[in-house]
Amino acid sequence: MSGRVVLLNGTPSSGKTTLAKALQEVLDPPHWYRSLDDFIKGYLPKHWDSARGPWSEAHRRVLFMNVLHGYLRSLRAMAQVGHPIISESVILPLTRDLYLDSLADLEVYLFGVRCPLAVAQERERARRDRQQGVPIELDVPEFDLAHSHGPYDAEVDTSMMSVAQCVSTLTSALERPPSAFLRLRAERVASDDARPCLFCEVVAGTRAAHVVLETPATTAFMDQLRQPPDPAHVLVIPKAHVENIYAVGPALGAELFEAHALVARAVKRAFAPDGITTWSSNERGANQEIPHFHLHVYPRRVGIPYPPLLAKPETPVADDALRLSAERLRRAIDELRD
Ligand SMILES: [Zn+2]
Repeated sequence: MSGRVVLLNGTPSSGKTTLAKALQEVLDPPHWYRSLDDFIKGYLPKHWDSARGPWSEAHRRVLFMNVLHGYLRSLRAMAQVGHPIISESVILPLTRDLYLDSLADLEVYLFGVRCPLAVAQERERARRDRQQGVPIELDVPEFDLAHSHGPYDAEVDTSMMSVAQCVSTLTSALERPPSAFLRLRAERVASDDARPCLFCEVVAGTRAAHVVLETPATTAFMDQLRQPPDPAHVLVIPKAHVENIYAVGPALGAELFEAHALVARAVKRAFAPDGITTWSSNERGANQEIPHFHLHVYPRRVGIPYPPLLAKPETPVADDALRLSAERLRRAIDELRD
């Protein structure tokens, strides 16, 4: 039987670690505890330092999301083999679905650990364990967003309650069945079901897209996100709503493959990349974000890192840039077909 997961959610310096250790002292059976910080410290401080480290700022953000992903998968694995777990989280709008999916179907207690900004800042300044000794900047929009997801099984305010009072509140809550995480999971599943399919809208023409190729059963268009400096990242999709690769039959498969091969040749002809990577992601476990099958055609340049697969980019690529690239690709496709 899986172990339960006690998730302490709050901003940095809200007192999560102190509480986690105090809970660990009193909980029976013993609970296993590792924080996300422990996982981050799996790399050296110099690796995370953008001035000295090997990674660009953008790559560091991707890597952070990768570490978070690994952390949550590790928690899941430990719970699934029976360990009761204490863990910490900062659930933000950007990472909320990752938490909800990673810990789905486990018994999760979601506890809010609050403290006012001024108190957290004071604690942050007093800390000695930050990378390079630099306190984390807390006066940012994320500070308020850490509790924006909604319900908790219990909440504590570490600026007003002693550690013992907080522990007592949380251990009492652990005697009742959890409900907050289940509610959030249910909301997520319901909103997924209700959402119209973006790619079906592209096929229907009700959503704008820069289409570069159409065949009887497929459409290819510019990806709006995650473009290399010279935008030429193309998605090739079936016109029918086919959710993932498991439902792609031989005829559609052949047409999709031929279409994406033609697009790849066109990208090579029009943009002369050093190479091209193509891929598809299937199911949430593989980070498929839009449940309508799509093949990516992505041009690569030596020295330019692979696109972020986990972090969602903040803003779509400028429409003008996509339009110009689409024109170049359509011309290349016409030349290749002649
Ligand atoms: Zn669809």
